[in-house]
Amino acid sequence: MTPIYLDYAATTPAAAEVAETMAAFLTKDGCFANPASRSHLAGWQAEQAVEKARRQVAELIGADLREIVWTSGATEANNLALIGAARANPDRGRHLITSAIEHKAVLDTCTWLEKEGWEITRLRPDAQGRVTAQQVAEALRDDTLMVSLMLVNNELGTVNPIAQVSELLSKHPCLLHVDAAQAAGKLPLDVKALDIDLLSLSAHKFYGPKGVGALYVRREPPVRLEALIHGGGHERGMRSGTLPTHQLVGMGEAARLAQANLQADAEHVSHCRRLFLQELNPGYYQQTADNPDNWPGILNLAFPGIEAETLILALPELAVSTGSACNSATVDPSYVLTALGLPRALALSSVRFSFGRYLSSEQASQAGQLVNQAIERLKP
Ligand SMILES: *Cc1c(COP(=O)(O)O)cnc(C)c1O
Repeated sequence: MTPIYLDYAATTPAAAEVAETMAAFLTKDGCFANPASRSHLAGWQAEQAVEKARRQVAELIGADLREIVWTSGATEANNLALIGAARANPDRGRHLITSAIEHKAVLDTCTWLEKEGWEITRLRPDAQGRVTAQQVAEALRDDTLMVSLMLVNNELGTVNPIAQVSELLSKHPCLLHVDAAQAAGKLPLDVKALDIDLLSLSAHKFYGPKGVGALYVRREPPVRLEALIHGGGHERGMRSGTLPTHQLVGMGEAARLAQANLQADAEHVSHCRRLFLQELNPGYYQQTADNPDNWPGILNLAFPGIEAETLILALPELAVSTGSACNSATVDPSYVLTALGLPRALALSSVRFSFGRYLSSEQASQAGQLVNQAIERLKP
């Protein structure tokens, strides 16, 4: 039996439409040419396909297509946003503000910048996982180059007040970077309305292929970035390397589908979450970061008295995670849960359930029953 997949925050399967679109850009009978080839029709066709995908991704976030820089994913997009802006703007200050519960792709990049001489302020969230615009205001200095905050937290589903932070920064020359890997294709997103300078995307979080993403880089006023990868000068000099046409058309199609299904996907995810929770004995769990405005696709539950590792072993029928997949090799509790002040034992009893498009209502209910039964068996 294939396990019921409840780990959509770690990655999503590519939509069938996405895989089908990609397949036409690989083999000798397909559109395989180098999109940078200017001397033949096949190259122009590949370039056209890449530009169509660029427009689809731009439309998903309300950007202009010239503001999309292709990357290998959100990890690279975060690196390019932070290091690229830090190196290109040394005159604008050497202080960055972020939060203690960002993805490692932001936190480890900040730690690296710190070693290079930049100063980093890591805002502490409250017990519900919330970071406020007030905290940003208090940390803001004349030499703050950038504020980097995620939109949706990948372990908790909490939503940061980006509109309020943006409003606050409107009177300050500081850049605003948003890691939107968990938000894009799931929540309505408009970089112009939110006045965002840089925004990171990952295709595999919204039913596209792995290994491809994008960085939105604002043009008006222009954001200066120094490239991290040097070569043929692709992507207006910001990211060299032959463009992977099949990956890009996959991301474009995933963006188109996500936009068309935004409302339906969100309703489905809320419905699955409700059905799942209905099956659980409320005495068995407590929800971490239980805010009414959370993205419903991510649910973090602590099961007091039961180790998450034990619970997961008792549930081979489910694919779930104890938090960020990137930390699953270590036995340390999740740094996100620790940052909320959750006691170590409770953090080690926490499981992240994440819901998505291809989970059926029956599977959601069944998963809840299986968790409930496992706890009944494991309860001391
Ligand atoms: C998955 C994820 C990333 C990393 O994206 P990749 O494309 O896998 O490199 C970064 N930030 C957040 C919030 C994520 O969920």
